[in-house]
Amino acid sequence: MSHVGSSSAIITEKTSEKKNSSYTASEEAKKSNTHSFAQKPILVFWETTKACMLACRHCRASAIHSALPGELTTEEGLALIDKITEFGIPYPVIVFTGGDPLMRKDIFELMKHAKELGVKFALSPAVTNLLTYNAMVKIRELGATSISISLDGAVKETHDDIRSIDGTFDATIKSIKNAIDAGLNIQVNTTVMKSNVNELPRIFNLIKSLGVKVWEVFFLIKIGRGAGLQEISPSEYESVCNFLYDASKYGVVIRTVEAPFERRVVSMRIKKGSYWRDPFYDHLHSELMNLEGEPKYNSTISPVGTLDGDGIIFVGNDGTIFPGGFLPVKLGNVRKDNIVEIYRNNSIMRSIRARDFSGYCGKCEFKWQCGGSRARTYYSEHDILASDPACFYSRIANR
Ligand code: SF4
Repeated sequence: MSHVGSSSAIITEKTSEKKNSSYTASEEAKKSNTHSFAQKPILVFWETTKACMLACRHCRASAIHSALPGELTTEEGLALIDKITEFGIPYPVIVFTGGDPLMRKDIFELMKHAKELGVKFALSPAVTNLLTYNAMVKIRELGATSISISLDGAVKETHDDIRSIDGTFDATIKSIKNAIDAGLNIQVNTTVMKSNVNELPRIFNLIKSLGVKVWEVFFLIKIGRGAGLQEISPSEYESVCNFLYDASKYGVVIRTVEAPFERRVVSMRIKKGSYWRDPFYDHLHSELMNLEGEPKYNSTISPVGTLDGDGIIFVGNDGTIFPGGFLPVKLGNVRKDNIVEIYRNNSIMRSIRARDFSGYCGKCEFKWQCGGSRARTYYSEHDILASDPACFYSRIANR
């Protein structure tokens, strides 16, 4: 056990998790990543429109009430879906996102086309009066694998403040219930920031009580309107990652976005029985235990996963191709470039997949299964291949 401060420490203790777990060693993760994601992504995000009736304070897209000129037309959208099949079977899953994809009048036609081609898809709608029960039934009938709905607070004051519209919390809870009643698989998305981080155990307890089976937790990237929000510190990120690992043992699938170092935390917990302990982690952990009791299951967090450009590619509303939705480095445009070629052969994409990183990420033993948030390094260090400044491991491992 190495102490970092009087009340903070990396704790290593005997654990039975190793033998009960599906831990994958980093070399296996390396093989898995290079084998799985070199030729095709598992997810193609398409920002179908910038239009949205909400104006959330952390919106990546800085969504606006009306569509921007230059958005992909219906014909171009249908052609994009056709093109995605050229990645080969099994096709990547398309995530229709925005803005609010329901603001596109042709969204049901686009979903129908994907279904006819056998391309699986998911939808990320905003909670507005377009997201009716009937719309959800139609989305389910068209075969959506899931829809995601954002919930950023355990109470209406927090959520409505982040969403900038009173009443959105109540509407969100109602939409989650409607989605479950409509037979949809529902994923709840939460963006972690200074103003809501203390509520994470209660958000988890709330969505679990509603019957939600997947919780996707976004670590703030200061892009779009999110640039004005306050991030948490690296040690707080470490506490949140350890809390999420604890929360993943209650039967809800937990995934993270722009926090690949969650996979490093999972490996440290499982392989070494090591975890970060400080008063903030103690607070999150004890509140979780008070609300949920002892965990009953193994962790649902996978020790391997995607990174922007590695398993993921993003198409903007005007067809511009990016490595990820939080990483605005232009790689081409689907109107004139081949997205399959760009995914496989673009030098930036290949560098990310080759883990050609500088700084601590470049020499880190976890770089194959983690790799750090490339979007965060881009914004903080102005270098896609630098070290992720939010990762606490580089600080403690350097000591
Ligand atoms: S130093 Fe980089 S690769 Fe290593 S765990 Fe942290 S973010 Fe991941």
